[in-house]
Amino acid sequence: MTLDPGRNLRIDAARLWDTLMETARFGGTPKGGICRLAASEEDRQVRGWFREACGALGLSVTVDGVGNMFARREGRRPGLPPILIGSHLDTQPTGGKFDGVLGVLAALEAMRTLVAAGYETNAPVEIVNWTDEEGSRFSPAMMGSGVFAGVFTPEEALGTKDREGVTLGAALDGIGYRGQAAVGGRALSGYLELHIEQGPILEREEREIGVVQGVQAMRWYDARFTGLDAHTGATPMAGRRNALIGAARFALAVDAIANEHAPDAVATVGTLDVRPNSRNVVPGEALATVDARHPDDATLDAMEAEIEAAARAIAKELSLALDFARIWLQPAVRFDPVLIGCVREAAKANGFSARDITSGAGHDAAYVARLAPSTMVFVPCAGGVSHNEAESIRFEDAARGGQVLLDALLAFDAGL
Ligand SMILES: [Zn+2]
Repeated sequence: MTLDPGRNLRIDAARLWDTLMETARFGGTPKGGICRLAASEEDRQVRGWFREACGALGLSVTVDGVGNMFARREGRRPGLPPILIGSHLDTQPTGGKFDGVLGVLAALEAMRTLVAAGYETNAPVEIVNWTDEEGSRFSPAMMGSGVFAGVFTPEEALGTKDREGVTLGAALDGIGYRGQAAVGGRALSGYLELHIEQGPILEREEREIGVVQGVQAMRWYDARFTGLDAHTGATPMAGRRNALIGAARFALAVDAIANEHAPDAVATVGTLDVRPNSRNVVPGEALATVDARHPDDATLDAMEAEIEAAARAIAKELSLALDFARIWLQPAVRFDPVLIGCVREAAKANGFSARDITSGAGHDAAYVARLAPSTMVFVPCAGGVSHNEAESIRFEDAARGGQVLLDALLAFDAGL
């Protein structure tokens, strides 16, 4: 009998949901979220669970030199490069249960469905768990997929330090997940990633599936204002060189610049690092970090010029020194039309309402798209809330997303 990819195989939605709830205990927080920073003890625990679940399916699990995990099932035509499906299992410090995790566990569910049915794909299929997608403990984000795609060298990634001065390399050694396999440098047939939207659009429009067209351009900046530490009581207001005032004005300026480029622009000062951070010292140093995004590279160029000009003007006015640097950028990403078509058809065949959407968040798929045909599937999340312990999705959203992932995978594979 010929299987009709997309029609015959149904994922077990209850089993998928159970795995989401089961793994949520690794780093589970009292508020119902997850704190599972990259290469932490909690990360080790969930990686162990994942490795065991894949082993039980007869998959071969390899770990590369930056901790990316690949669980492989061979295909009928071993000459074909693998199709990757997956996402990330690390979370923000106050993360939710679904960001990233859904993509890995839905990939596991798709694999379980294939194995149970004895369905042979043309290409090998690998579930991937990317290291340090969140960029919270080790910056920048999407480190594992970035090295895989050749954006960073393994040495750069492994040498990155957390706030305590621990390198990613040492942290991976500590949890036993600095693997032997070379990072990247191999051909892929394609990459599919299911993810929660992390925004409000699908929910607001009551659409069940987001057919992701690409990822908006994004850039990160550091603006370090340096003035002079001084006694808060003995130093008159006139003549102070208060770096925090500079950073605070800069945060307002960044917000205004994004508003001037409405509706698609977003820009945020997300952290302030104030030195010496003492109640009775006028702050002599303040580092403001900026995240700016827009679907169009040219508009982001203009925003960047305005942000830097604002920082320089503020520093001059307050007699502060300024060190302004772009520390990371990702150009706008366009996903693969063939894979996008597979996702659209899978949603349609299942009777799910769908809409095209551009990702507002960065994702591993944005890097993998540099190497191979890639795309993503979005499902709605309640209120568009993410990077928050309250992040939530409905059982049906997980079920629909998992089914579309499987069906799109099989449709793409059938065309190889
Ligand atoms: Zn994510």
